[in-house]
Amino acid sequence: MKIYGEISKVRETVKNWKRKGLTVGFVPTMGYLHEGHKSLIDTARKENDRVVVSIFVNPMQFGPSEDFASYPRDLEKDAKLCEDAGVDLIFHPEADEMYADGFCSYVDMNGLTTELCGKSRPIHFRGVQTVVLKLFHIVTPDRAYFGQKDAQQLAVIKRMVRDLNVDTEIIGCPIIREEDGLAKSSRNTYLSQEERQAALILSRSLKIGKELVDSGETNAAAVKAAITAELETEPLAKIDYVEVVEFNTITPVDTLTGSVLVAIAVYIGKTRLIDNFIATV
Ligand code: AMP
Repeated sequence: MKIYGEISKVRETVKNWKRKGLTVGFVPTMGYLHEGHKSLIDTARKENDRVVVSIFVNPMQFGPSEDFASYPRDLEKDAKLCEDAGVDLIFHPEADEMYADGFCSYVDMNGLTTELCGKSRPIHFRGVQTVVLKLFHIVTPDRAYFGQKDAQQLAVIKRMVRDLNVDTEIIGCPIIREEDGLAKSSRNTYLSQEERQAALILSRSLKIGKELVDSGETNAAAVKAAITAELETEPLAKIDYVEVVEFNTITPVDTLTGSVLVAIAVYIGKTRLIDNFIATV
């Protein structure tokens, strides 16, 4: 397995693979890899001849008061997970390799990014779209793998690729959870023991919402109210949002129909956690 920080080396390697007719699967990450990332890597491994993982904590997608500086990093551990999972190449650039002096070009979107996480993280998706399109230009993957854990991000990337004619297939992968239900996340490492226990309220409240939807409830307000009521039983939890949106457009719905995303963001202490489920009604 190769680990490169230079764009030129990644390009050269991928060009060589493509000359031989090999397909390339790509998993973009911010590192501190866990089973959630590994599931994307495993799927990419099955569906492609070569697998590239990027590890880059992208400063552009963090707001000024967010956790860019404290975001956990462990390249050695990540490299071991990737090596064991059969990854061919890790791209691990420094910020100045990705953003040269005077960088001033961005990818932005008029829809999909205003609701949910876009409300409390106004510059986040512009940073995500810009870095992902750059990574796509560098890696030129046939397929790229994204987790449903970040469902709004998945919808945004799918739309960006469609709108801008990027020749990469976007594949969404299911949420991987801890045994007790907590969605795996690099940010779980911020939680104290007490907060880790309190964080179970996210998956527990979504389970109640999902049971309601499965039993035939189509009123979005009723689903949101049930989830909110459960979240409010946890003193350490502070709700950022509880929303029901159409998955492909990320627009709020009053009545559940088609592919709907039920998404929540909740602070447990200072840590902001997200979780969701998608239902086809
Ligand atoms: P991150 O390193 O947090 O930027 O995540 C990189 C990719 O891994 C994104 O596509 C995430 O949606 C995905 N991912 C993170 N956590 C999980 C999880 N628990 N299950 C599935 N995919 C995940």
